[in-house]
Amino acid sequence: MSYSQYEHIKIKGFGPSNARIMVVGEAPGESEIRQHRPFVGSSGKVLDDMLAEVNIPRASCFITNVSQIRPNANKIETFFGKKKDNILRLHGRYPFPPITDGLAALKLDILRLQPDLILTFGGTSLWALTGKSGIQAWRGSVMYADEADSSLPHILVVPTWHPSAILRDWGLRATAMVDLRRAKDYFDNGVPEQEHEFILRPTFGDSVEYIQGLLKRANDIPDDTQKIRPHRAHGDAMGAIIPALWGSTTPPFWVSENAGDWGMENQLQALPVSVDIESRGGFIACLGLAPSIHSAISIPFISVDKPQGFYTDFEEWHIKILLRRLLSHPKVAIIGQNFIYDAQYLAKELGGIYLPFFDTMSAHHVCFPDDKKALYFIASLFAEYYRYWKDEGKEWDSSIPEDQYWHYNCLDCTYTYEVAMVLWRFLHILKRWPQWGFQMCRQLPLLKMMLRGVAVDLKRKQELIGEVKEAMAQRQAFLDYVIGRPFNPRSAPQMQHFFYTEMGLPIQKDPKTGRPSLGKLALPTLKKADPLVAPIIKAVEEFRTLGSTLSNVLVKPLDWDDRLRCSYNPTGTKTFRLSSSQDAFYFGMNLQNLTEGKELDDADEAIKNLGI
Ligand code: URA
Repeated sequence: MSYSQYEHIKIKGFGPSNARIMVVGEAPGESEIRQHRPFVGSSGKVLDDMLAEVNIPRASCFITNVSQIRPNANKIETFFGKKKDNILRLHGRYPFPPITDGLAALKLDILRLQPDLILTFGGTSLWALTGKSGIQAWRGSVMYADEADSSLPHILVVPTWHPSAILRDWGLRATAMVDLRRAKDYFDNGVPEQEHEFILRPTFGDSVEYIQGLLKRANDIPDDTQKIRPHRAHGDAMGAIIPALWGSTTPPFWVSENAGDWGMENQLQALPVSVDIESRGGFIACLGLAPSIHSAISIPFISVDKPQGFYTDFEEWHIKILLRRLLSHPKVAIIGQNFIYDAQYLAKELGGIYLPFFDTMSAHHVCFPDDKKALYFIASLFAEYYRYWKDEGKEWDSSIPEDQYWHYNCLDCTYTYEVAMVLWRFLHILKRWPQWGFQMCRQLPLLKMMLRGVAVDLKRKQELIGEVKEAMAQRQAFLDYVIGRPFNPRSAPQMQHFFYTEMGLPIQKDPKTGRPSLGKLALPTLKKADPLVAPIIKAVEEFRTLGSTLSNVLVKPLDWDDRLRCSYNPTGTKTFRLSSSQDAFYFGMNLQNLTEGKELDDADEAIKNLGI
């Protein structure tokens, strides 16, 4: 069986036999076939420039690929089969011979060269050398060649974006450079040791002792007017200081001008503690505390082993009282990642409002509004030692053993602590104190809005459901009548048959899939293409809008007190507009994108008077 028209040409790895760094790509392309060398086309140019920028001369590297054969149309997917192809499964995929042969050659090269560092570019080489999938998640991680294949030596592997992905989205280059710079640092200076002191499965006594230890440290901090008193977004100095800073680009008076002394830890008149909760089924499953980059505790409340609760009721109550004391202590500076989310749970289970002194997601947002904001991504940019540690699920997954889950909780805390220290400096360098202050000030009103919810007029809501259903029935009757048979505007085959086959309208393709579509984008174009069918399309559009208002808004369940609660996300948009979504307890929705309803005739009034 032939897998590619280029099967007769093999492009082997190339580079000095004493190379200490190995570069692994995916497969050769057109230029590589022509010149019989890997990475010599446009991707190669991007690769060379990036390596040069971190002081790795290309000529010193051994450059190779997972496949030595060029796939048809450069589509590497054609070198992988499916389960039904009955071929050997490798790390969850089904590689055909161009990949398995390429892997055998790659392995021989690794064993022969025994390099100190392997840089993998793109998802295929990440998978080939580590068995992991998802380059977006794993890029920049510390990994090793023997993780997935124990017959390989223990060689450092650092994955990053493929140059061809960078050519499609130049924004990825900056993160790839972070990865390469760190990889070069590891190559020159070794991988830093990870000295974690994590307390997992603490007994009641351990938890109490830990929290009391932190309280004692906080109590012992002397008053020092030269240092910053940690304000909280709720009241205290924050309310007074930050508004005064809006519009100013100079650091607040409490940030030292002395660059050598701008570490958060040195400047605070308080104990920074990173706090993170993990939830399960709407309850706090565990709460992590990290008073440093290296040490943390994960206090469990819910556990599979102990269905009645990890601690007895009395013990849990006692721990929560201590946590209340800690989190509201004037000399404890809470650091959190998107802490407003955690604050919803803390309000419910500890009682009261706990907001952070420093939110890493907000700080990252004001420094780099265009970036992703997940903790793993921020950590991949700023942590000294980084390894992707979890799929960012907020919910517990039964496939993860609980000790690992608690370990993740500790890692969340220590990574949050570490990136907070770095972002503190970025706020200083980029002069974003006012913007950060504004963001932090929004936390309290937003949390209050989230907790309080919005009153809903139940009678009006019921009427509206009736009105919207009636308006939908009218559009349905109109469609059935003009089309001359029962017509289902929700059915893609019926829609395609009517508009494209029977009416012969120009086929609109989905920009993503390239398949014929009658989606949101296609309908306005079709309306213009044929004025005769315009009223039919309008009826379809209205039917859809009404349907989504009904299902996404009107019939959504309200909270126990008949109020509508949702989550307001301070960092939800690049433009700093707020976004809203379902809250942590599965209530609410995106309140901002309520169907405006302007285009609807009968339903117009109804939608506007949503009864809220
Ligand atoms: N892309 C790759 O992955 N390898 C090459 O050699 C060229 C382009």
